[in-house]
Amino acid sequence: MQVPTTNLLSLDRQGLEEHFIRMGEKPFRGRQLMQWVYQRMVTRPEEMTDLNKMLRRKLASEASFALPEITNQQLSADGTCKWLLRLRDGNCIETVFIPESDRGTLCVSSQVGCSLNCDFCATARQGFSRNLTVDEIIGQVWIANERLESIGYRHGGNDQVPVPDSRRPVTNVVMMGMGEPLANFDNVVSAMNLMLDDYGFGLSRRRVTLSTAGMVPGMDRLRTTCPVSLAVSLHAPEDSLRDRLVPLNRKYPIRTLLDACRRYVRGAGSQRVTFEYVLLKGVNDTPAQARHLAALLGDIPAKVNLIPFNPYPGVPYRRSDPGVIERFRDVLLGRGLVTVTRRTRGDDIDAACGQLAGDFTDRTRRSERMRRVPVPSRDNAATPAPETAMDGSW
Ligand code: SAH
Repeated sequence: MQVPTTNLLSLDRQGLEEHFIRMGEKPFRGRQLMQWVYQRMVTRPEEMTDLNKMLRRKLASEASFALPEITNQQLSADGTCKWLLRLRDGNCIETVFIPESDRGTLCVSSQVGCSLNCDFCATARQGFSRNLTVDEIIGQVWIANERLESIGYRHGGNDQVPVPDSRRPVTNVVMMGMGEPLANFDNVVSAMNLMLDDYGFGLSRRRVTLSTAGMVPGMDRLRTTCPVSLAVSLHAPEDSLRDRLVPLNRKYPIRTLLDACRRYVRGAGSQRVTFEYVLLKGVNDTPAQARHLAALLGDIPAKVNLIPFNPYPGVPYRRSDPGVIERFRDVLLGRGLVTVTRRTRGDDIDAACGQLAGDFTDRTRRSERMRRVPVPSRDNAATPAPETAMDGSW
């Protein structure tokens, strides 16, 4: 009889300790295994020399350490790196690494596609296939670290700016790739536990951010189970507009959502909530809307992240003009709100916000319906960059 194999990357510390107990081993073996996998980046049991030979053999035959397969790696002119990863069922997802002088941020996907159908998002147009498993989520962080280390990536490029308390290229994780992380709650929380665990990647809660379109019950659960930094995709100061841009708003309108944010800051001991606001030309970018937004957020410890819209073929929205973005930002700053405009990174390789699309079976058939809709022309299409081989030239 063949013994079923467990993918040990799908278990967080508690899961691994329970797994080893079931194997008749001591629970501390789980912590040892985590050190091999997440600190020494070793996934071959035969190399795990502080486990006895019998156990190594048992792990080799009864367990697996299956990671997604890298099918494409693209490097942007600005150093942003995007990996296309093929999952066991043939679906593909994308993961993006964004280097900055003092940190390296990995944008991690949580679902194959997305079911929320936000009106301006490229992932939404692809439809939805399924939730990612824990190993597929943590595997993105593992692969990015391993690939970047193998090419000798250094923070800050040749200047080698030391990054405090970081052993790895990935110092920050944002759950802002494909999918709605709170719609895949349990798997996302287990994977984030591995990111945070001292035996795992050891990132602080400040350096792991979950972004949600506003799933209020999930925000409340997160606050009590895994209070990482929270980002909320707001995009509009009034319900009528937000209903259209983020259909989930019909279920959890702005007032309900902001109450959940207040609870989060109080209960999670979090310093503040980041509000993401994609600036869409002529839709949500007027000074009056900025004033309305500032009034809404007035009593919440908040930071506003203005995201210039990244266009893609077939989308009817356009990016607000730079002067309009500046004026919007100045209104918020003038009302005392911490506001930053996100620099667009990696758009030459379609790695910017909202451009992640992957390649997968759409179970909702939304992508098929979208193709039948006449495609309006757009005037600022980014030409796809040629694929670049990783050559270590950061
Ligand atoms: N579902 C979660 C996680 C996705 S995060 C959420 O909605 O927060 C991805 C962020 O990029 C969200 O704020 C999303 O609204 C934004 N985004 C989507 N499409 C975009 C585009 N074309 N240009 C810029 N930002 C976009």
